[in-house]
Amino acid sequence: MSLSRSLFLAAVGVTALAACQPAAEERVVNVYTARHYDSDQTVYAAFTEATGIEVNTISAGGDLLIERVRADGERSPADVIVTVDAARLQRAEDAGLFAATDFSQLAESLPANMQEPDGHWIAFTGRTRVIAYSQDRVDPAELGSYEDLADPRWAGRLCMRSSDNVYNQSLLASIIIHRGEEAAEAWARGVVANLARPPSGGDTDQILAIQAGECDASLVNHYYYLRLANSDSADDQATAEAVGLHFPSGSEFGTHVNISGVGIAANAPHPAEAREFIAFLLSDEAQRAFAELTNEFPVTGYDGYDNDLLRGYVTERQDALNVADLGAQTETAQRIFDRAGWP
Ligand code: FE
Repeated sequence: MSLSRSLFLAAVGVTALAACQPAAEERVVNVYTARHYDSDQTVYAAFTEATGIEVNTISAGGDLLIERVRADGERSPADVIVTVDAARLQRAEDAGLFAATDFSQLAESLPANMQEPDGHWIAFTGRTRVIAYSQDRVDPAELGSYEDLADPRWAGRLCMRSSDNVYNQSLLASIIIHRGEEAAEAWARGVVANLARPPSGGDTDQILAIQAGECDASLVNHYYYLRLANSDSADDQATAEAVGLHFPSGSEFGTHVNISGVGIAANAPHPAEAREFIAFLLSDEAQRAFAELTNEFPVTGYDGYDNDLLRGYVTERQDALNVADLGAQTETAQRIFDRAGWP
């Protein structure tokens, strides 16, 4: 938006506000967020510029954030709750944190499998969990489905993040839904049998371990890899060249998809502002920022972003499962990880 146009819109906004509200009244939205990406500050600033609504950001790790809103109960100032991973959104929903909201107007451009059916939350970005592999030691032709990583030919060749992280819980939840509990447990046991080292570290650590030769393959969220591949740093570039990403899209259920999601808090003091905020997260401007700055997939079908590596993955077949179904299986997933000896 040009400067003169945004000034014009700002002036119109002020006039409209003056007509119906005391001039001193400030519009605000309190955003409780478990996301830790710079893109979000960019998006929030653009929202304030477009609407005049101030954004107060309260940040905390996913489960801590949920606990804080829950403990504050009816006095919670939270208007909007933003977090990553459908399983965590389900945890927040189970704790009664979200107001059931009619998102049908906001979310008409969202696929149905990206919306919680009762309107407790919706997705605003997509992320996939995929196989990272060594370009030197793995022939891409030997890469297949997630299930394939349980094959003995990977013995001593896999690195994995620990199972207490929600990303692996949601992936296993999807395998439970598609293949059943028994097959899911057999898979987890098979992967454990193939580990090169005990599970540790975050997703980027798995990529670095592959580059360092500690293992040949792992499971990571695609944007951790793209952050390296799209980086200006020579070290990051070298890592991205040593490692490839395989999308198990040809397998039975396609590539596992997860989301960042958002909902209106049950006791939101500013529900109208909250709705405007969520609508903005689905705007082309915000979808573009997420695609360009955090390498996450737009969920609205928006395609005008500048990120060729990300665009190259869009054609990969993604799991059509409703992401809202994952949360109900994460406890079962955790029990399976425990039984399989995947700490
Ligand atoms: Fe992440």
